[in-house]
Amino acid sequence: MSPLLEVAGVAKAFAGNAVLQGVSFTIAPGEIVGVIGPNGSGKSTLLNAISGFVALDAGTLTLGGQPLHGLAPDKINGHGLARTFQLPAMPERMTVFEVLLAADNRRHGFWRSLLGGPAQREQEARTRAAAEQLLDELLLRAVRDNAAAALSGGQKKLLSVGCALMGKPRLLMLDEPTAGVHPNLRNDMVRTLKALAARGIALMIVEHDMHFIGELCQRCIVLDRGRIVAECAPAQLAENPQVLQAYLGSEHPILEAAL
Ligand code: ADP
Ligand code: MG
Repeated sequence: MSPLLEVAGVAKAFAGNAVLQGVSFTIAPGEIVGVIGPNGSGKSTLLNAISGFVALDAGTLTLGGQPLHGLAPDKINGHGLARTFQLPAMPERMTVFEVLLAADNRRHGFWRSLLGGPAQREQEARTRAAAEQLLDELLLRAVRDNAAAALSGGQKKLLSVGCALMGKPRLLMLDEPTAGVHPNLRNDMVRTLKALAARGIALMIVEHDMHFIGELCQRCIVLDRGRIVAECAPAQLAENPQVLQAYLGSEHPILEAAL
């Protein structure tokens, strides 16, 4: 199958500090790829670079053959690439349902919303139906009319996944989706994300929880000081010398599994 995302030779430095160097990999449609690596290895910067939140110094990005590099985040999102952030912020005075509706309005644009008429009403009905469906899929039905800012950390993460899905992405990138999430909710998240991939949505997941990675991902990309040092199935991580070297000196489940 031809790749959905192609990342080639991506480099980024901040004030002379090389944070990403020669990063190249591909993701196929419906594939679930984990991105792991020690703190500061460049995982979030890689997500920011692919989604247009930081400009590349070098390299190319394509999604379904369409070049993405140099485009603003909203244009990249319009091509079918959505993301969540490590610490999702929710607006004050909006309910969970309203936050989902607003996520779609951004995509369809303010000017179109002024046109009115039957086409506009149909679009609104589709948006509301999509938001209602996501409330069920993401187990947020019970908090539909609660203030989004008052949700638990884990529920905010689920809602940010919902916002990303309102745009019907082909690729969804998640930055540490389980951090601060209750174990029950974490298991629900595994099921939900697997169901998305089964529908053909590719997932790229930055995550520290190796059990979560092991349950979900077909393949892992390991970053160390801005370079990809290994690419293998989660089960092979603990016996990969480059991976062990990357985590040396830190307390990490990969090292525990290898000992
Ligand atoms: P990770 O997500 O793997 O923990 P990050 O991608 O957040 O790592 O950060 C990698 C390195 O880049 C760190 O040294 C961090 O301080 C630096 N960095 C990230 N973003 C910026 C920025 N906007 N300005 C300067 N340095 C940054
Ligand atoms: Mg990070």
